[in-house]
Formats: sequence, structure tokens, C-alpha cells
Amino acid sequence: MSNPERAAVSAVRKIIDDLNDRSGFDAWWEDIDTGTKREIRQRLASIIQDATRRPEEGRGAVLADVAAERVRQDAKWGEQNHPDGTGISWVLDGGPNAEDACETYRRITNEAADRGKLTWLDIALEEVAEAFAETDPAKLREELIQTAAVFVAWAEAIDRRTT
Ligand SMILES: [Mg+2]
Repeated sequence: MSNPERAAVSAVRKIIDDLNDRSGFDAWWEDIDTGTKREIRQRLASIIQDATRRPEEGRGAVLADVAAERVRQDAKWGEQNHPDGTGISWVLDGGPNAEDACETYRRITNEAADRGKLTWLDIALEEVAEAFAETDPAKLREELIQTAAVFVAWAEAIDRRTT
């Protein structure tokens, strides 16, 4: 069963339990009073709505916010054209070189995942390190898109928690 299906099944179970508690419900549909029937219909409709809500809908909200922020950035700073500055030590002078940083953050992420303690910060730092290690523009662009997608996924997860 998928997660939405599991959620739908447990919600239907809860409705049946509620009805059992309320009235010793064990009658056929015909014996149920009109108000209760209406309530069942409404609750089933809302379950179906939740179960069929696609994750892309939450993504749309995040991507719209990102697009709006880009408009704000351009309005504030104008079009920006800087050198990439990647492929060298990017933490501090004397910090790890780009490849070492990449390897370090990849190891931290894997170890956290193995311990069941993976955080968005771990994942984000791994992706950022990979992007910052790239000097080839095509590969850097790929890594930047992966990095941006992780931050979008992070915001989607926060939205799922808070809405
Ligand atoms: Mg990557």
C-alpha cells in the first residue's frame, strides 16, 4: 500500500470506530439517519481529497516562492555576472580542498543515514560541496540544479510539517 492509501484506510477505520462509539453502529446504510449519512459522505470526500493530493502541489508553492525571490533579487541587484570561483578550497584559507570537502560531506551524510540520523543539513552540505568542487560549466550547472532541488525538497518538507 502507498502512504496515501494507508492514510485513507486508517482514516476510514477511525470513522467506523467513531460511529461505533457514538451509536453502536452496525446497521445497513438504509438505517442510518440523514445527518449521519451526510457526515459520512463529507468525511469520505475529505479522505479521498487527502489521499489523491499529489506531492507536486506542495512543490508548486515552493517553486513559485523561489521564482518570486528571483524577481526580488533582480530588482534589488540587477543582472549579476560573476566568475564561478569553484574548484578551490572554499571553506577558509587552509581548509580542505574542494574534493576533500566533497568526500568529507559525502561520508558525514552516509554515516548519518546509517545511524538513522540523516538531516537536511547533511544532504544540503553534500550537494553544495559537490557543486563547489566542479569547474566544468556544464557539470557545475548540473550540480547547481541538484543543489537547488535539495533546497526545494527541504522547503517542501517544512511545508508538510507546518500545513
Ligand atoms: Mg550532486
